[in-house]
Amino acid sequence: KSVTDLSTLPKEKVIRFLESFDTVVTDCDGVLWILGVPIPGSSDVLNKLRDLGKKIFYVTNNSTKTRDELVEAASSMNYVINKNEVISTSYLTACYLKSIDFQGKVYIVGSEGISQELDEILIKHEGVGPDVVTSFSDALDFTIHSEIKAVVVGMDKDFSYRKMIKAATYLNNPEVLFIGTNTDEQFPVGGTKIMPGTGSLVRAIECCSLRKAVIMGKPSTFVGKALVDEYGIDPKRTLMIGDRCNTDISLGSRCGFQTLLVLSGVTSLSEVLELKKSDSEENKELTPDVYLRTLGDLMPFLTD
Ligand code: PLP
Ligand code: CA
Repeated sequence: KSVTDLSTLPKEKVIRFLESFDTVVTDCDGVLWILGVPIPGSSDVLNKLRDLGKKIFYVTNNSTKTRDELVEAASSMNYVINKNEVISTSYLTACYLKSIDFQGKVYIVGSEGISQELDEILIKHEGVGPDVVTSFSDALDFTIHSEIKAVVVGMDKDFSYRKMIKAATYLNNPEVLFIGTNTDEQFPVGGTKIMPGTGSLVRAIECCSLRKAVIMGKPSTFVGKALVDEYGIDPKRTLMIGDRCNTDISLGSRCGFQTLLVLSGVTSLSEVLELKKSDSEENKELTPDVYLRTLGDLMPFLTD
């Protein structure tokens, strides 16, 4: 599979490309902003695509924010955005539980993004907030709540050994559901320090519970199916924009969307070129159709 810098193509070709989709599914962190700081040019491009009549969906693996908080953050950076266009993994988790008519309480290893989305659909939960053992002798000193019928693991700044004990204990019952919001290994913080992503926490619970989590976020096709089933989007006329090949581009490929990688986030051009060295099915799925240095580079093609 070849991969081209879209901005180097002749204008007619780029315009034909822009006419080839009417739905845009865009990743958030790394495409629109990086840890709350806007990426210059991205809002102009997305707002222009919206003006041209494209339907836009904002899909983020971030489970720490509710849709309302994401709308507020994006609006403050000049994105024209509505709540029903935002799909976060906290919201997907709530949608999933609702779709299976979940009865019972959820044990959350995660943050308020998840608890607030569950509150919206009146699903009871516990677990958000600090919870630590002070010594090994009090490690098992907790009450098992038999109404817990699911464990949800998302990003949790208070992740702890106690929470691992509780999650593994609940998951010891095979009837208790195990949901992971996403599998991102690390955050793209730059520099030499590493910040583990939610995938690291999900794997820790998978390891101690001897179970595999059902994953809600990209690249799980759950979100793509929801977009097709509930919003009626046409996969062939949909463009996935992302900064990460193993989540965004993989999701796009699996769902039959066209794919555009921007180099303003996690995946670098050298990683993309590395992927092209092998023609394995896995690498094809990870390789975007086209790439741009940053989404703003599309602006010259959107103005006459
Ligand atoms: N998970 C968490 C907790 C995050 O803070 C972020 C980015 O800020 C992500 C996942 C990745 O989000 P996205 O899918 O928008 O790149
Ligand atoms: Ca991203």
